[in-house]
Amino acid sequence: AKESGRGRWSFFSPEMNRKLMERRALEADLRKALSEGQFRLAYQPQLDLKTKRVTGAEALLRWQRPGYGNVSPDSFIGLAEEVGLIAQIGNWALQEACRQAVTWPGHLRVAVNVSAVQFRLPGLYESVAAALATSGLHPGRLELEITEGVLLSDTVETLVMLERLRSLGVKIAMDDFGTGYSSLGYLQKFRFDKIKIDRSFVRHLGENIDAEAIVRAVVGMSRTLGIRSNAEGVESQEQADLLASEGCMEVQGYLFGKPMTADDFAEFLKVGG
Ligand code: C2E
Ligand code: CA
Ligand code: CA
Ligand code: CA
Repeated sequence: AKESGRGRWSFFSPEMNRKLMERRALEADLRKALSEGQFRLAYQPQLDLKTKRVTGAEALLRWQRPGYGNVSPDSFIGLAEEVGLIAQIGNWALQEACRQAVTWPGHLRVAVNVSAVQFRLPGLYESVAAALATSGLHPGRLELEITEGVLLSDTVETLVMLERLRSLGVKIAMDDFGTGYSSLGYLQKFRFDKIKIDRSFVRHLGENIDAEAIVRAVVGMSRTLGIRSNAEGVESQEQADLLASEGCMEVQGYLFGKPMTADDFAEFLKVGG
């Protein structure tokens, strides 16, 4: 505690106070965002690296916060988890992604992010089932991206939940592979449909021998296990070429397409899909 003016004690420095106020304002705005329709989904194309055909898109949350413009999900997903809003937001994203994907050509998938906190809350299975039923989307066209954080609480319940979700017919992808702990062990416990190699490895391809070795190992292992590999954050042709030579199956990144509005994605499909 610090002694402030007139002999009163205050626990917060002006800097801490400012941060706390900002956080409260963010939380208040976040609570209104859903009902006021301020969320959108952006779609980033995923392509088969060999054929260059679009295989689907990852749905990425966007928030038009009044007075702030477009706010990055990294800056509010954590807070949404803390204050109990993630289930509602995640449910909205599932509904919206399925509703839009059903208008795409039938061979395309949509990938939706599911946070670790959201995964553990009751109602995820029901949310996914409801989004499929409401939209009429074929379950095989929905992919759920989960992070290693989901598997950290290494319980039977986690695996049972993954199997229940899969019993709906949806695909399960491991997101940000390589950034968490003991990733390899998880691959033995649950048969993922896809492994997404984190951008932090892809970024150093061509400049860093270690990055190349890691990517090669992950791609090789995926192949052996019969799991699709996806490399995220591909920005240069050199990276794409290296990934192709390692046998990586799918790519996603600014080189091929940035996250875009649903309308722009429909246009993107007409032109190049
Ligand atoms: P993520 O799931 O790893 O998503 C990939 C992020 O990398 C996205 O950032 C995407 O815009 C960005 N990205 C893609 N290609 C490139 C590239 O070539 N270069 C660079 N520099 N960046 C690239 P974004 O959209 O800001 O999302 C950040 C994170 O927020 C996501 O990381 C995900 O963890 C979370 N997120 C986004 N939407 C949702 C959602 O609906 N639900 C949940 N729970 N989390 C979400
Ligand atoms: Ca993701
Ligand atoms: Ca990722
Ligand atoms: Ca990430």
